[in-house]
Amino acid sequence: MKVLRVLTAALVMVGITLGARPAAADEHPEWTTPFPAFRIAGNLYYVGSKDLASYLVVTPQGNILINSSLESSPALIQRSIESLGFKLSDTRILLLSHAHWDHDAGSAKLLQATGAKYMVMDGDVPVVESGGKADFYYGATTHYPPARVDRVLHDGDVVELGGTRLVAHKTPGHTRGCTTWTMQVREGGAMRNVVIVGSWNVNPGFRLVDLPGRPASYPGIAADYQRTFRTLASLPCDIFLGAHGAYFNMLQKYARLQQGAKDVWVDPAGYRAAVAERQAAFLRELHRQQASGR
Ligand SMILES: [Zn+2]
Repeated sequence: MKVLRVLTAALVMVGITLGARPAAADEHPEWTTPFPAFRIAGNLYYVGSKDLASYLVVTPQGNILINSSLESSPALIQRSIESLGFKLSDTRILLLSHAHWDHDAGSAKLLQATGAKYMVMDGDVPVVESGGKADFYYGATTHYPPARVDRVLHDGDVVELGGTRLVAHKTPGHTRGCTTWTMQVREGGAMRNVVIVGSWNVNPGFRLVDLPGRPASYPGIAADYQRTFRTLASLPCDIFLGAHGAYFNMLQKYARLQQGAKDVWVDPAGYRAAVAERQAAFLRELHRQQASGR
């Protein structure tokens, strides 16, 4: 199972970014394939596609949506929300895992449809407001409709609505404002700690070190990743989620759920193993790049 997840994660990572050319959605059918919406735990629901994760937090004062996904995704997300008996128009706040087109290109359309407030981590604000042009790596190649940010978030900020609190943990490297969200949900009388990983991947082409004539992708990127892995390792996690279903083995866990398994999303050991595995992958890539400069 672990090997499968690692393989899947590696395939997704490579697939997203062969060279600097962004992958089209048609190269990733799982990004646009509808997936049954479902309740994860408490007031937290999955409303994304087969791999691009969107989450709905339902409160008495309206809902929070995490990830607008591709420019074409809002219609799929709306159908998922409605299949659960909720309304897209009740979305009050839009949040983000990180400012790459597969998670944020649908934001302009979603904000226009809902009037929601867009709350984005400081380092990702220039990227979403420029429609991808300010991204340190894909800025020259991948553009989408810009969206205005209503509230700039900083590490540790809390987003609160209708009695639910989400904490924004800045986990930069993959993007400069990559955000890992945590919240607590009540399920079966127990409080569960939820972690929604923003990203932990070093995409092909990212430069982690300064070499002669080849500067790092942005100053401090390697230190950012190091800090991100310290942060992720420090977060209490019962329910393990992320920006892509592949991060947390969603398809396999969902299949077990269909077979009658309980608490499939509760996976603290899987979370710790995945953080350790991704950290090791980062360190291998860092050492490879450092060695290439010698
Ligand atoms: Zn990404």
